[in-house]
Amino acid sequence: MRRGLYLGRFQPYHLGHHEVLKQIAMEVDEIIIGIGSAQKSHEIENPFTAGERVLMVSNALIDFDTKHYVIPIEDIQRNSLWVSHVKSMVPPFEIAYTNNPLVIELLSEAEIRVKQSPLFRRFDYSGTEIRRRMLAGEKWEHFVPESVAEIIRGIDGENRLKTIAQSDQE
Ligand code: NAP
Repeated sequence: MRRGLYLGRFQPYHLGHHEVLKQIAMEVDEIIIGIGSAQKSHEIENPFTAGERVLMVSNALIDFDTKHYVIPIEDIQRNSLWVSHVKSMVPPFEIAYTNNPLVIELLSEAEIRVKQSPLFRRFDYSGTEIRRRMLAGEKWEHFVPESVAEIIRGIDGENRLKTIAQSDQE
């Protein structure tokens, strides 16, 4: 039994994350999807709550064959304790998938095997680009799974982001 951890903020979950997960599924028996910065929401960089992100990932993976767990993980003040914090929140894992240099460093220091995974069509499949498009009123729906677009429409996410951006300028 080989279990892998894939960590991200998923603000929002998009087709790039989805492709990475399909690749990871070929290498492990079970996948833990850690929703990072779970405490954050209603910010320009982090508009969606942990609960909304859990729903996005879970609904996008409804037909996914590989067993998976979607687990919110809050940030903590001390980087040196963060790996222990993560380990206390998720099932045991043998390998972690990330491209974040700090995360790679912290996991490696804890002697956890880390693998980097290229994101597909990085220019389009990017949380930053999708949030920029939402704010600008441009099309973004084709960069996320249809189930995720439905969730974002259901919570009027585009208007939430626009409202947050307004209060940020005041
Ligand atoms: P992130 O801050 O969400 O993402 C960093 C960048 O990497 C984003 O632009 C993201 O793009 C991109 N990215 C995500 N997956 C990728 C992939 N497979 N290939 C290429 N780029 C990718 O960081 P993260 O690594 O995804 O998540 C790390 C989480 O751990 C964060 O929530 C962070 O706060 C947390 N953390 C906490 C502590 C602590 O509490 N002390 C310490 C370390 C890390 P998208 O926006 O498109 O996803």
